[in-house]
Amino acid sequence: MHADLVAISNLYAADRAIDALRGEHEALSSAVRLAREAAAGGEATVKSGESAVATVTATQRTTDRELEDYVDKKKRAQTLIDTGAGDYASAERQVAQCAAIIDQLETRSLELMETRDAAEKVLASSRRELVARQADLELARAKLSARDAPIRSELAAALEHQRAVSPELPPAYRQHYDDLRRRTRAVLVNVDDGCCSVCAMRIPPQKFVETQKDRAVHVCVGCGGYILP
Ligand SMILES: [Zn+2]
Repeated sequence: MHADLVAISNLYAADRAIDALRGEHEALSSAVRLAREAAAGGEATVKSGESAVATVTATQRTTDRELEDYVDKKKRAQTLIDTGAGDYASAERQVAQCAAIIDQLETRSLELMETRDAAEKVLASSRRELVARQADLELARAKLSARDAPIRSELAAALEHQRAVSPELPPAYRQHYDDLRRRTRAVLVNVDDGCCSVCAMRIPPQKFVETQKDRAVHVCVGCGGYILP
């Protein structure tokens, strides 16, 4: 390989190693972020489930108290009828009215019981979901924490290596190299069947022969990547 191409290739390998380490760290950190958001969402769902159960429970209590009141009222009216102590007709009306309201309240109470059962099922399932999300978060944190220090030290070494190989790049290549990197383009390209492996542009045979014979360094006119022998 042409000496200049070796220098380009060494720097590119060093830069790619840095990219990979930074990418790995970013992926691990972003997994923690996402898991944290999912766990927070799970907590919010549990809270709203708890509040739904609490609301229906409170309504149930009120309805049950009301029901007890009407049962008592009906009993008292019935006693008046049984003992003949009061106005018979009005006591009978009251018994009938109470019986109708008791009917409605009993139906309402059954509906509330069903609503509460359903709300409790939803709550139980969101609690299970939350446990799973918290376990995911713990796992993501453990993965990050296991690789955090190694990545930092590998990155320090990779940066040092990059600082060592960077000056070996002849200045004439610097701008084009930096340009390719800035645009996240492939710096090195292969030639397959006379065409660039990255952009499929035809590579003039002359350029490829010169590259293979280490006589010159050429770039693909399509993507700008340096042609490998
Ligand atoms: Zn190309």
